[in-house]
Amino acid sequence: MVTDFKAMRVTALAGGVGGAKLALGLQLALAPGNLTVIVNTGDDFEHFGLAISPDVDTVCYTLAGKANTEKGWGLQGESWNVLTALKALSAPTWFQLGDQDLATHLERTRLLQAGWSLSQVTEHFCKLWQVSSHVLPMSDQPFRTLIRTQTGELLAFQEYFVRERCEPAVAEIMFQHAEDIQPAPQALKSVDAADLVVICPSNPWVSIDPILALPGMVPALKKKPVIAVSPIIQGKTVKGPAAKMAQELGLEASAAAVLGHYADFVNGFIYDQLDGDIFTSDAYPGIIKKATNTIMKNDEDKLRLAIETLKLGEFLINNIYHHD
Ligand code: GDP
Repeated sequence: MVTDFKAMRVTALAGGVGGAKLALGLQLALAPGNLTVIVNTGDDFEHFGLAISPDVDTVCYTLAGKANTEKGWGLQGESWNVLTALKALSAPTWFQLGDQDLATHLERTRLLQAGWSLSQVTEHFCKLWQVSSHVLPMSDQPFRTLIRTQTGELLAFQEYFVRERCEPAVAEIMFQHAEDIQPAPQALKSVDAADLVVICPSNPWVSIDPILALPGMVPALKKKPVIAVSPIIQGKTVKGPAAKMAQELGLEASAAAVLGHYADFVNGFIYDQLDGDIFTSDAYPGIIKKATNTIMKNDEDKLRLAIETLKLGEFLINNIYHHD
């Protein structure tokens, strides 16, 4: 029985922008330390020899209150001296590295080279940035998401996402060596220990699926109350290529398709009220569906959506979901 949603231990699965927004709402709603976020590392890559973890950084910067919310990536009050100097050297500048952000990548790379794991580096940074939540990269081993385009090109995710601005039509999303890669040490434990798991409104195909592809993750989720929040509203994304990708892959770009994607292991689903009554009464009868305003423009919106999610979680735990 849960009587106070603030006291719940929640594990969230997240990518970058959409994931970080709801993660911040959950952090604001819960007692300090009660949120763990497992973050996609399929977008990680090396650039100028540096280890870059875009989604982990977006989540950490957001939870630390340091994120540039206008851009949706990077840090507030950033300066661009190194990028300007790189431009003058005709160096590749398609991936915009701010000066402060660069310090994160330099130090992460140094620590990884000294033998730290990505989980340890992330915990260390979060402590320095006074993040009260636990941020776990989904794996300490390199997991790479690749995009095969309809013209047959194979692109690393950031090449597709940033350099090519998501323009090439996608034929296939590939996870390199997914079956050989182990989840980060605390990831499955945090799912086991959670009262509730929340799938944030991140891109299902490239931000959440890499986490779900880790050995043991879906079986662990099946033992827990899980709520997913749709990143697709009226067939469109708030930001990013999820809807375009879905269409190119021959999938429907809709909140209903997102629910269908997660139907095997979710107990609750939150989608936007702008989608109205998209579910007939016989669609996924075992899953509780709730329509609300899911657009998060500011911290109040994030907190409100987080509280609605936690209240649905409370209802699931107390009325429907029975622990062994
Ligand atoms: P990325 O790795 O930076 O692309 O980040 P994510 O996968 O976490 O986020 C991309 C998804 O977030 C897109 O599909 C957006 O539609 C979704 N998104 C962004 N902002 C919001 C929002 O305010 N509400 C909802 N429901 N989805 C959002």
